[in-house]
Amino acid sequence: MHQLTLADINRALAAKEFSAQELTKHLLTRIKQLDPQLNSFITVTEESALAQAKVADERRAQGDTSPLLGAPIAHKDLFCTQGIRTSCASKMLDNFIAPYDATVVSKLAEAGVVSLGKLNMDEFAMGGSNETSFYGAVKNPWNLDLVPGGSSGGSATAVAARLIPAATGSDSGGSVRQPAAFTGLTGLKPTYGRISRWGMIAYASSFDQAGVLAHTAEDCALMLQAMAGFDTKDSTCVEHVVDNYSANLNQPLAGLRIGLPKEYFSAGLDSRIAELVMQAVEQLKKLGATVKEISLPNLQHAVPAYYVIAPAEASTNLSRFDGVRYGHRCEEPKNLEDLYKRSRAEGFGEEVQRRIMIGTYALSAGYYDAYYMKAQRVRRLIKNDFVAAFNEVDVILGPTTPNLAWKLGAKNNDPVSAYLEDIYTVTANLAGIPGLSMPAGFVEGLPVGVQLLGNYFQEARLLNIAHQYQQATDWHKSAPAGF
Ligand code: GLN
Repeated sequence: MHQLTLADINRALAAKEFSAQELTKHLLTRIKQLDPQLNSFITVTEESALAQAKVADERRAQGDTSPLLGAPIAHKDLFCTQGIRTSCASKMLDNFIAPYDATVVSKLAEAGVVSLGKLNMDEFAMGGSNETSFYGAVKNPWNLDLVPGGSSGGSATAVAARLIPAATGSDSGGSVRQPAAFTGLTGLKPTYGRISRWGMIAYASSFDQAGVLAHTAEDCALMLQAMAGFDTKDSTCVEHVVDNYSANLNQPLAGLRIGLPKEYFSAGLDSRIAELVMQAVEQLKKLGATVKEISLPNLQHAVPAYYVIAPAEASTNLSRFDGVRYGHRCEEPKNLEDLYKRSRAEGFGEEVQRRIMIGTYALSAGYYDAYYMKAQRVRRLIKNDFVAAFNEVDVILGPTTPNLAWKLGAKNNDPVSAYLEDIYTVTANLAGIPGLSMPAGFVEGLPVGVQLLGNYFQEARLLNIAHQYQQATDWHKSAPAGF
């Protein structure tokens, strides 16, 4: 049962091959057996999961055919869940029980999913390896000595290890696509504003977007359908028609114009990954696509711009965690200033503190123009590069990551080298466009991802291309040994 996709599960539940309660029990047992070595869950909600599964079975029995009815998933632990701890993998929120559900959580609940719990992540979504979590690092099921990527590393590992068929994630600079690439999954980051951010704890508000990690594009389509749409509670959520993502999957690719940005294939890219990317291109050509070289001339400025603007926004967002209203509070503060200082020093981990300091510095009088303003101008140039590229091509294709998953601890003393790993993913968040990573082969037994970038609100097109590719290839079907 645990090898099935969401689409398979829907068919099996409809055919009464097993019930949602049986499936939920089976996966809860797997989590108990296998997760202690992986550490992908922060909280397992056994009781409420079984209750939701029971309701799903009853709805099915009454003739309800919603495709996600009874589908087991779990949420990244930055989506607020009413009555359930929502920690953001931080000591600061270790004791925080959310008083309401995030829009993503309530929309998926209405669609009938069964939530098995809350997934590990980098603290406040800051990181690309899931090592900054207060609850400890997550292991990559393809090799337990390696990172699964991040910040949605718990989501990636739980799905890759077949503990759940799909999970929510969030992507502010690559946090859905990069862990998907490192664990052999399909990961979708929609257009900024496609999905409501209400109830999703903010890291960098102008970048943050909810996303999905699953085995197939078909499953990402099912999840996105339930998650997308306008929400009056989020002023940046866009009122834009929601496509029928599943209905679009079978469009033929004949005539599809793919752009290969020459800057993406530079010296920093592992040549073995480059080779697999080109094999994926050949496959898409066989399916009718045409290919053309394009240029995204400001790529080199993307990581510096991201690592100025995102920490600036983070420093503002995280000022609300002051030990007064909620979250960690230090013991016996001497006065108000001592309360703020010690609560924050104790509650936030090293990477979060580093980013608050970088962000505060970049926003301070005298440096604002030199750093923050300049980075915003670069952001516009990067957006303009994409707008120009999409006049020539329908979709942009390249690697998701420059390198394979690295060893746990390898970059602990070198944050800049970790930041540079985000080179291919941060551009989509700077511009606000959608991106998808899909499995495209293996190097040294480790999964490699290919990234598709689309124009604004072209999620249906990205899912269509990935689905057609997955009809012709089997990479997405491989499971790590032992799982
Ligand atoms: N790895 C990137 C970072 O460290 C992306 C994080 C994210 O998308 N939340 O900021």
